[in-house]
Amino acid sequence: MNAEIIAVGTELLLGQIDDTNATFISRQLSEAGINVYFRQTAGDNEERLKNVIQTASERSDIVILTGGLGPTRDDLTRDALASFTGLPLKADEESLEKLKVFFESRGRELTEFNKKQALTLEGADVLPNDEGLACGSFLEHQGKKFLLLPGPPREMRTMFTQYALPKLRSGMEEQQIQSEVLRFYEIGESLLTEKLDDLIENQTNPTIAPLASEGEVALRLTVRGPSKETNEEMLYELKQKIFAEVGDYCYGEGDSQIEQVTAELLREQEKSISAAESLTGGMFADTMTSFSGASMIFPGGIVCYSNEAKIQTLGISEKLLEEHGAVSAECAEAMADGCRRVFSSDYGISFTGAAGPDPLEGYEPGQMFIGIATPEKTVSHFVNIGGSRNRIRTYAVKQGLYLLFQ
Ligand code: ATP
Ligand code: MG
Repeated sequence: MNAEIIAVGTELLLGQIDDTNATFISRQLSEAGINVYFRQTAGDNEERLKNVIQTASERSDIVILTGGLGPTRDDLTRDALASFTGLPLKADEESLEKLKVFFESRGRELTEFNKKQALTLEGADVLPNDEGLACGSFLEHQGKKFLLLPGPPREMRTMFTQYALPKLRSGMEEQQIQSEVLRFYEIGESLLTEKLDDLIENQTNPTIAPLASEGEVALRLTVRGPSKETNEEMLYELKQKIFAEVGDYCYGEGDSQIEQVTAELLREQEKSISAAESLTGGMFADTMTSFSGASMIFPGGIVCYSNEAKIQTLGISEKLLEEHGAVSAECAEAMADGCRRVFSSDYGISFTGAAGPDPLEGYEPGQMFIGIATPEKTVSHFVNIGGSRNRIRTYAVKQGLYLLFQ
């Protein structure tokens, strides 16, 4: 069984919003073992919408539409599907009642436009909207399945996972689906997939899907089988093959990225870390404070971009800066020591280097020193990262976290 997703909305075509709905649905379907071969984006135009529905229904078993179920004139998805199938629209009583109650409680009139949100196609199952007002629909028509889902991501996600996915699954043979994520560092997506090319190409169950995000790459392994035991065995075998090729780069498993892994470890060990940031200008602090409960593990950081700032906030000596420069192992170590002292933290981490595009103190863009101070010792690592200024700084933070536990 294969599916096609149609994201509806002129603002998608204008680039005003990203199509995160299709990404979400694709991921959910892939985990459910339903292949997505095509995706389309269409504007708020009934004729063109009908066209894309036509194309999709000719080549896909399941056609999923998201967006355009609201009350306004440009919300036309229902009408387009009605016109394509020739099925009339009718009001779903429960959804209509919900709308009435909603408008009454606010002392507002329920207009004909608003009533549109309770419309569904004749013969379709209504998909309730727990997060909003527009109901969704699930329709089986001439051997194809059609889903109408709202555009607002919160509404769409709940409706899809709670009501739509179980309907799609009910037609599939009973199989257990399991997936695992392996996380890699210090290896780009292209090199990782190149090294695993044969495996990825020839592997159909389990499947291997690379997921790249800033500063790291992950592989999602998904297996389908008759029981949990066989699935686990298959996943284990595949993981052994992957580790044989690229095991050195794997830092963890599961949905957590390296910053979450670090935060959890620090919390478990009841340890804290502070930062002295030149190159990264506060990005490490930003990363560490993106979790709730951050104050337990991250008392604070200092952004010390200029030499004066390094001297004044961290007590780095002028002599050190004159002799070794700000981009040096000595300075990185003094910065890491300095912030550890200022914040009385267990660990201190520092970043100093050339972010680019120009060289700094004889260092090329992307060359940097990362200092790590622990109660036992203070060390620094020379690191070289390629790419744009932003990439260099993002990767520096990831690299720092990675080095912390080496
Ligand atoms: P509404 O009742 O809000 O009009 P709707 O079902 O008609 O909902 P749209 O009008 O198409 O949906 O979109 C409403 C909002 O939902 C958009 O402004 C946008 O913020 C978000 N949205 C729509 N489609 C997507 C998408 N594919 N990915 C991410 N967000 C989306
Ligand atoms: Mg709308």
